[in-house]
Amino acid sequence: MDKPYISVVIPAYNEEGNLPPLVDRLLPVMRATGKPFEIIFTDDGSRDRTLAILKGMTKTIPELRVIEFNGNFGQHMAILAAFERSQGEIVITLDADLQNPPEEIPRLAAEIEKGHDVVGTIRQKRQDTLFRKWASKVVNITTNKMTGMKMSDYGCMLRAYHRDVIDNINHCQETTTFIPALAQTFAANPTEIQVGHAERSEGESKYSLYKLIRLNFDLMTGFSVVPLQLFALMGILTSLVASGFGIFLLVRRFIIGAEVEGVFTLFAILFFFIGIVIFGIGLVGEYVGRIYQEVRKRPRYVVRRVHGYQKEAEVKG
Ligand code: UDP
Ligand code: MG
Repeated sequence: MDKPYISVVIPAYNEEGNLPPLVDRLLPVMRATGKPFEIIFTDDGSRDRTLAILKGMTKTIPELRVIEFNGNFGQHMAILAAFERSQGEIVITLDADLQNPPEEIPRLAAEIEKGHDVVGTIRQKRQDTLFRKWASKVVNITTNKMTGMKMSDYGCMLRAYHRDVIDNINHCQETTTFIPALAQTFAANPTEIQVGHAERSEGESKYSLYKLIRLNFDLMTGFSVVPLQLFALMGILTSLVASGFGIFLLVRRFIIGAEVEGVFTLFAILFFFIGIVIFGIGLVGEYVGRIYQEVRKRPRYVVRRVHGYQKEAEVKG
């Protein structure tokens, strides 16, 4: 069989009801492209018939592959495992619950063919609860502010990546991550398009409130140390304000005399020290943050191309 040109990557966790209709819609779309393709499912430790159904499908669909996880490692790890085994020039990610219409895939692939290396998406008329939409807004705005990235919709997983970006992602060894943000750090020429969005077709969301909060911590702490830096700044500010207050009380003492038996002076001194303590914690955080970045072992920089060499000698980064 030819080497796949497009790889479609789909994480699935307890999605038994969605798989047959998903594949029924996805296959004709992929066949219509006329290019060789592969569909890689990761079964993320499902406890229903997801794995059995997928294994059954591999018997009749030669393009279908299944990665079987040993337990539930989460959506993003499921996608990473499929990335590592993907071969396509273009890699598309998609949810298994039919919230992302497979019919959009050719539009995404076309953007990659135009020369973009990451195609992000914005969900048109998003079909989720008000709470989820509102929470996403807050996350999108704060993440963009903290990381300096510009993405309109971090949560939409219907995305397309060029092989080069996938190769870079495959070099990362971090244990917690958020794939759209990680891809964005390697993107040289990203773009965004609007895509349709539907309600989950079967079953319920696999994200409880707790899992959702944990996921967003991965996003915030995985891509920025700004939260730590803010902590240190807060300490400096507290100390400055407290010193100002102390000076004010001192001057006041000489002019009018001591206030309620010096209680507020005590407060001023106390706040000054609290400020120092908070600053100290923040400072420790700075170091922890840097160690954390180091331990994640992301590539320090990425050489896209080299120019002016006689023969393409080995280039070490
Ligand atoms: N998913 C997964 N492992 C998990 C949670 C979710 O593989 O631990 C998959 C799930 O099967 C689906 C996708 O990730 O294909 C998105 O999950 P879901 O639709 O529940 O999230 P929501 O749309 O509510 O954000
Ligand atoms: Mg969903």
